[in-house]
Amino acid sequence: MPDRGTGPAPDWDVIVVGAGPGGAAAAKRCAETGLRTLVLEKRAWPRDKVCSGMIMGPWAHDIIRDHFGAIPREVLASLPVLKGHFFHVPGAAPAVLEWPTPLAWRKNLDAWLLQKACAAGAEVRTQARVTQVESHGQIIRLTLNGPDGDEPLSARWVIGADGANSDIRKVLFPGLKTSYSTPIRECYPGSLRLDQNYFHWFFPKGRPRPRFNVNHKDGFFLIEGSGIRELRADISRILADHWFDPSQKPIWRDGCLIPKLHQNLIESWPRKESSRLPGQEGRPPVLIWNCCGRSWPRLPYSFSNRTPSPNPPPRLPWAVTSKTLTKKPCGFPEPISY
Ligand SMILES: Cc1cc2nc3c(=O)[nH]c(=O)nc-3n(C[C@H](O)[C@H](O)[C@H](O)COP(=O)(O)OP(=O)(O)OC[C@H]3O[C@@H](n4cnc5c(N)ncnc54)[C@H](O)[C@@H]3O)c2cc1C
Repeated sequence: MPDRGTGPAPDWDVIVVGAGPGGAAAAKRCAETGLRTLVLEKRAWPRDKVCSGMIMGPWAHDIIRDHFGAIPREVLASLPVLKGHFFHVPGAAPAVLEWPTPLAWRKNLDAWLLQKACAAGAEVRTQARVTQVESHGQIIRLTLNGPDGDEPLSARWVIGADGANSDIRKVLFPGLKTSYSTPIRECYPGSLRLDQNYFHWFFPKGRPRPRFNVNHKDGFFLIEGSGIRELRADISRILADHWFDPSQKPIWRDGCLIPKLHQNLIESWPRKESSRLPGQEGRPPVLIWNCCGRSWPRLPYSFSNRTPSPNPPPRLPWAVTSKTLTKKPCGFPEPISY
């Protein structure tokens, strides 16, 4: 599609920054409509991400089914579908929420989603970090930092899908102040004496937050939560009942920052168009999903009053197929098996 401005044509119609689910979905949609679409991802690919890997709620199921198709069996964990959630609250019997939820490692899920975007015609460059973005009338110019140094690129539209710590967002909102939570994930070999068909949430006494959770995947168990360092003693004590050995060391540990953003972004969004993007009066990049402060999918249940909402019960549209990941339009390595 030609640029309508008088200057030189941009390199791309759309540049999507970030190759997570938000970026893959945006890129696939743009490519399908015939737009020349490039995805830029700063990490080597496929990459894992701090995430429990549950594909949660009918909303996410519907989007994946309608826009990407059935999730191949290989993308899901060896136990492909959790039966639901277990809530362990001191002084009460564990509560169960039956909530069938497909389970994956994000490395595999995101690789599959991105392959679909590639199959639709999007191009991908990995180890390509966007460091700057500026609007110039009808063209948006950005700077990409890759193995060969800095490189300028231009597009008619830029979609910021670069996650909770979005660089695009920082460029657009340099003054945006936010606080962070710091979830940590620890992976241990083996299993605990907990029903592996369920995701387990623990609420240590006197500490509604932070709390932690445990889930099993492919021969490992993972302990996750915000503030699990502070909770170490509680975790050891509570999980000892489930055969956790506190002297056991995790085989790996990772973590991330989650900006508490949604409210801040909305509150700091200037109403006057002229003051919306300082120094960037032209076409602004679009922020999507975690990048714009949406971090969790919506669930059709309200936990506050413990009663089901009137939303419809979960559907199971993620029919698992035996299709293998042999198609590698982007030359990706096979997803790593754990
Ligand atoms: C502990 C934890 C557990 C979670 N569990 C679940 C769960 O079970 N189920 C669920 O649905 N959600 C879960 N979430 C939320 C889920 O991880 C996010 O909602 C989801 O990853 C958002 O996808 P995204 O595409 O917006 O961003 P991301 O998945 O974060 O992808 C952003 C991508 O952009 C890349 N990037 C960043 N900056 C740049 C740059 N400057 N240039 C180029 N690339 C860049 C990053 O490398 C990354 O690959 C969890 C989150 C946390 C923290």
